[in-house]
Amino acid sequence: MKIIKFGGSSIANPDSIKQVFSIIQDKLKRQEIAVIFSAFGGVTETLLTIAKMAREGDQVYRDLLQTLEEKHLDMVRQLIAVQNQSTVMTYVKVRFNELEDLFHGIYLIKENSPRTLDYVVSFGERLSAFILSEALTAKGVKSRFLDAREVIRTNDRFGQARVDFEKTNALIRQYFLNYDGVKVITGFIASTDKGETTTLGRSGSDYTAAIFASALEADDLEIWTDVSGVLTSDPNLVYTAFTIPQLSYNEAMELSHFGAKVIFPATMQPAMKRNIPIRIKNTFEPENAGTLINGDVTNGPLIKGISSMSNISIVTVQGAALLDGTAGSRVFKALSEAKVNIVLISQASSEHSICLAIKTSEAYLAKEVIEQEFFYEIKSNEMEEVSLLHGYSTIAVVGENMKQNPGASGRMFRALGRNNINVAAIAQGSSELNISAVIPQPDLQKALNALHEAFFLSENKVLHVFLVGTGLIGKALMRMIAIQQAKLREESELDIQIHGLANSRFMAFHEDGFDLKAGYDLSEKDQKMDMEKFVRQMEEMNFSNSVFVDCTASQEVADAYPRVLGAKVAIVTPNKKANSGTMEQYLELKKLAKKRGVKFLYETNVAAGLPVINTLQDLMLSGDKVIRIEAVLSGSMNFIFSELEKGDPFSEVVKSAKEKGFTEPDPRDDLSGMDVARKILILGREAEQRLEFEDITVQSMVPEDCQSAESVQEFFEKLKGHDKGFADLLKTAEAKGEKLRFMATLENGKAKVGLNSLPASHPFSNLSGSDNMILLTTERYLDRPMIIRGPGAGADVTAAGVFADVIRIGNYTRE
Ligand code: ADP
Ligand code: ASP
Ligand code: MG
Repeated sequence: MKIIKFGGSSIANPDSIKQVFSIIQDKLKRQEIAVIFSAFGGVTETLLTIAKMAREGDQVYRDLLQTLEEKHLDMVRQLIAVQNQSTVMTYVKVRFNELEDLFHGIYLIKENSPRTLDYVVSFGERLSAFILSEALTAKGVKSRFLDAREVIRTNDRFGQARVDFEKTNALIRQYFLNYDGVKVITGFIASTDKGETTTLGRSGSDYTAAIFASALEADDLEIWTDVSGVLTSDPNLVYTAFTIPQLSYNEAMELSHFGAKVIFPATMQPAMKRNIPIRIKNTFEPENAGTLINGDVTNGPLIKGISSMSNISIVTVQGAALLDGTAGSRVFKALSEAKVNIVLISQASSEHSICLAIKTSEAYLAKEVIEQEFFYEIKSNEMEEVSLLHGYSTIAVVGENMKQNPGASGRMFRALGRNNINVAAIAQGSSELNISAVIPQPDLQKALNALHEAFFLSENKVLHVFLVGTGLIGKALMRMIAIQQAKLREESELDIQIHGLANSRFMAFHEDGFDLKAGYDLSEKDQKMDMEKFVRQMEEMNFSNSVFVDCTASQEVADAYPRVLGAKVAIVTPNKKANSGTMEQYLELKKLAKKRGVKFLYETNVAAGLPVINTLQDLMLSGDKVIRIEAVLSGSMNFIFSELEKGDPFSEVVKSAKEKGFTEPDPRDDLSGMDVARKILILGREAEQRLEFEDITVQSMVPEDCQSAESVQEFFEKLKGHDKGFADLLKTAEAKGEKLRFMATLENGKAKVGLNSLPASHPFSNLSGSDNMILLTTERYLDRPMIIRGPGAGADVTAAGVFADVIRIGNYTRE
């Protein structure tokens, strides 16, 4: 005998029911089965909503009831041919008449006791199982509807009744002896000896199935749902969660007890007693093996899964009275009598306080009953009033192997700490099967992902990128990531995903990461760009290991860095704006990044992808001191002055540089030397010198009258007037065998930027084209400076430098 259970999610609509029927028919070919059904998807919830509305006097409940009836009638119409519908139509209509009377009663007397509610929700399973049993019969499967209230006996703890197994087992066995055919059974519901309807707890149909499996000593139990088994974490919160192939009964119990909704915690007990294997299968992917739950405790991974529960409050009981040995047990007794479920207890041995995690919906009751119990102690100040803190979640990592292998808690709290998640309370079950922690609810998703990565994907570190600026550099970066993604995954165990994209006009987000191969063009269909909102969205997505990549030159974006770092998101950028502001801002950003435990990398602020900033930082870290920096930091200026040597007039050379795309749209932005000044400012600061922009002497190459030109065209006109001046400069230099180079120098805490005439032996003299060159003279590189040379501008080399910084962050965030 095989027991098969289908949850509400498997029977939410006629299409999925057809799928369910084909699974049943397939099983029937091989062996004897009995089937348990939940209510149709969403029905239990709707019945509870209607009951609540009726009790509150909201007449709209009638509309909801009508819709619910229509839904059931529609199921009948779609599943059963007209000529076979009459019995079942009558059944449905009679049930809805009963429900109408029932809700009218609730409406009049405004009463909704757990007893009444159990009766109300029992209609859900009775309707679904009856309709489906008739539908199966109509398909030629000889089936028999069984209302489980006939055979499952419980006490009268309505809403969460306890099963009397002795009576129940006997009744089930007798029933199966008396009747043949495939039993189609209601999940979830049962009855007391007096015939009152009870339920086994929300989601209790799984348990019903286990009760039948155990009474009938079934060979196995299959629970069919809408996911492929028990996953390593809730797939709604952790997108990379995957199926756990095997769990021990205890592991499954622990995972579900701490929030894995996919299976009801009590299900495992009856199955474990008779060693009946449980399989969790996916109705919509039947070929997937799903999860096997049995008695095996194998040498599998350190932990099997991570579960969580939200809407938790921290209830703290404290005071001298607790030092008395019996106080603790009085707390637990008071809570147990009030049927308050304690999710987690943590008690410090040195302190006289007990900290309890309790569902927020039960927290006020908990406070009330504990304060009642300690009425006199509170009055005499031996105990404080019970304090409540709301807005928490619990997370639990579960696995039998933690017993033998230490290190799980270390890994867990390191991952939480690294992501700046505050842990409010910690507990380890005495079975050492689980370690749980209470954390602020807003951090839940981030915490789960961080733990999931630390335990299951530690070989594969995921970096979540948010990219602002989709111009030449941004686009080149996306292309590079797309090309390298697979290789990085395989060889560097690094998975880079882009979750947010923005340009100056639009922004878009993708939970699972944009498909980079397909590319993504921002357009009107996307949200309007708003830096505030962009940062907020990053915060809300709350991934662990997030990186904000700024490929703009925008001051506004740079102004958002403090908030980005504040949200514990790393920054990578070629945008110089932030680092070339005031010294104080520069230091503040560094301090903030450090405080938040995230990186702020900007190798491409100077000389694109050339390793200038990293090199300087390494030198400083290893105790070297910078004596002098000389640098050609503007590819456009170098191009202009090395071209000038060919004899063309200055204005023509500038024009051709502009045409080749080597200058800014207005060449004055290059000729002014401001850009170079910002770069030497940053290099100076990296060399640990306190430098402000005003400390730099800048010699502009824009003649005064050209400065005031209104348009670029006018500027070129006026520039012609200076061709001779530049030609003379060149002549004078050449006469001395020297070359003209536009460069920056930093020495003795002073920086200057301007045109220099250099001897032929100077390394800059043979620098041609748009290359950059940086000479670092330090205490260690004294006689011959360190030289860094290469293309210092261009989208591809800049993007490559940005990419390298992103990868660096991936390596930093490794454990
Ligand atoms: P059913 O209607 O079949 O009883 P449930 O909705 O009760 O289905 O349970 C299945 C759902 O449980 C999944 O769709 C998933 O959203 C949720 N879930 C939460 N945690 C887990 C987990 N660790 N593994 C699988 N599913 C989980
Ligand atoms: N229908 C019930 C519920 O929604 C029982 C179940 O689905 O297992 O709680
Ligand atoms: Mg369920």
